[in-house]
Amino acid sequence: MSDLLNENFRNASFRNFSLAEDRAAFKKAIEVVENKLGRFYRLKDGAAVATKTSKFKESWNPANPSQMVGGVEYADQQDAQNALEFLASGRALWQKVDLRERVKKTEFLANWMEARRDELSAWMVLEAGKSWKEADADTCEAIDFCRYYAREMLRLGVPRLTQKLQGENNHLVYRPRGISLVIAPWNFPLAILAGMTVASLVTGNSVILKPAEQTSVIAALLAQGLKESGFPEESFYFLPGIGEEIGPLLVQDERIDLIIFTGSANVGLSIIEEAAKKPKPHQKGVKKVIAEMGGKNAMIVDDDADLDEAITGAISSAFGFQGQKCSALSRLLVHENVYDSFVSRFVEAAKSLRAGDPRQPEFQVGPVIDEEAQGRIEKTIHEASKRLKTLYIQEKSVSLRGYYVPLAIFEVEDENDFIFQNEIFGPVVAIKKVKSLDEAIRSANNVRFALTGGIYSRNPSHIERVKEEMEVGNLYINRGVTGAIVERQPFGGYKLSGVGSKAGGPDYLIQLMEPRTITENTVRRGFAAS
Ligand code: NAD
Repeated sequence: MSDLLNENFRNASFRNFSLAEDRAAFKKAIEVVENKLGRFYRLKDGAAVATKTSKFKESWNPANPSQMVGGVEYADQQDAQNALEFLASGRALWQKVDLRERVKKTEFLANWMEARRDELSAWMVLEAGKSWKEADADTCEAIDFCRYYAREMLRLGVPRLTQKLQGENNHLVYRPRGISLVIAPWNFPLAILAGMTVASLVTGNSVILKPAEQTSVIAALLAQGLKESGFPEESFYFLPGIGEEIGPLLVQDERIDLIIFTGSANVGLSIIEEAAKKPKPHQKGVKKVIAEMGGKNAMIVDDDADLDEAITGAISSAFGFQGQKCSALSRLLVHENVYDSFVSRFVEAAKSLRAGDPRQPEFQVGPVIDEEAQGRIEKTIHEASKRLKTLYIQEKSVSLRGYYVPLAIFEVEDENDFIFQNEIFGPVVAIKKVKSLDEAIRSANNVRFALTGGIYSRNPSHIERVKEEMEVGNLYINRGVTGAIVERQPFGGYKLSGVGSKAGGPDYLIQLMEPRTITENTVRRGFAAS
């Protein structure tokens, strides 16, 4: 185990789809998964079942909505109560498990995922509409979270001597908080759910996994992985269901000690508010909430920027996974000296992206997650086109049956405009012409979010100013603003983008535990015989 701590942490390496063998393996994995579609998975442990009841809800392929991916048993309020009771009664048992054991199981889960990595990614292609590359990156991130948090726990598990003093030992130690409620979004259906879950488990907390409705099948596979990795039944409870129905009950329950949420600011803020209410008579502590929320991410294009690079970075940041990343680029602030040339090239590059079924790697644009998202994004585009200068709206192919929306680019002058201020969570970009770096930075910061952002510039003094002044949790210079890697770029924002320390970074696990200081007088007075 101590070897693990001494080894350098290495990120899982991405598949290289320019190699025929990687392409062939992935194609095969999609076929394997297609043969497994239509199965049903129960709550608690995600196991596949032969018969289903009316509580099972289907999940559909967003690129082909008549194709059922599978179904999961949705928890009702009684199931949520059962889960709480079950975990509360086994809580002490799980907390007693030695930390090296917890680390071993977490490492096992990483290996479990690695052994079936293409298959897990293929599930994401079919259930979430991810491209091969995006799905592969999601699986790699999930593996990284397991390995990174396992190492981190070994580091934090050693009592830390605070000061050297004769006759007195002083150590800082951490203990689990208790029961953790993990509430996840659908856009990184494996990585984010796995990250929040293993962080809870490796720190000794038991955990309720509440996945997003849209990607419950992938979540069921993770629950199976936890079981196969040796996490005992008292340590986790897979609880799929409708957020609005079971979420508030779980959030308010006095047995929950810690809530780890990733999702929209609306839901996150309501959770923070609920959890902060005065404790109920039997509640023994104040709930800790970690909430990673939305973004409205800007990229500045300076007047001396390398436009070839800037176009590539902006296109992949804005339109990768159809703009459905919290880190996605949705505002471009372009210096007036390069505005016309940047905009015409950016629009031409957007025109070259082809929409189609993500099972086929030749398409760069897939569907959005569901009909509700499709309707909302299309309405936003339609309304924006009536009041703003439209630079590009992609033509929609009539042959596509899934939840596709056009890529859309608008010119914005008024920073109060809806699409400049609000997270659309789709492939919609607002471009604003700016006269100076001052204006660009002021404009970038003129939103309620602070998640990702960046600049393309060759001017060292401008780069330094952006480092100082741009309000973002993750700043990227002369590269795209998405694709944070565990340990390398700990991820998370502030303002309305989140509260809590960065996922995949050295401060993350600490917030899941209670720090305690132990002081012992060691001047010898003799000990009682035991
Ligand atoms: P969402 O807020 O709609 O749902 C997230 C989760 O909350 C789901 O599991 C849902 O069932 C649950 N939920 C809904 N209502 C609830 C309630 N009243 N109480 C408790 N739980 C409830 O978000 P989404 O559409 O799944 O995901 C997209 C959002 O997530 C975007 O805003 C995106 O920016 C954000 N996101 C942020 C990060 C980050 O790291 N900052 C990462 C990924 C996604």
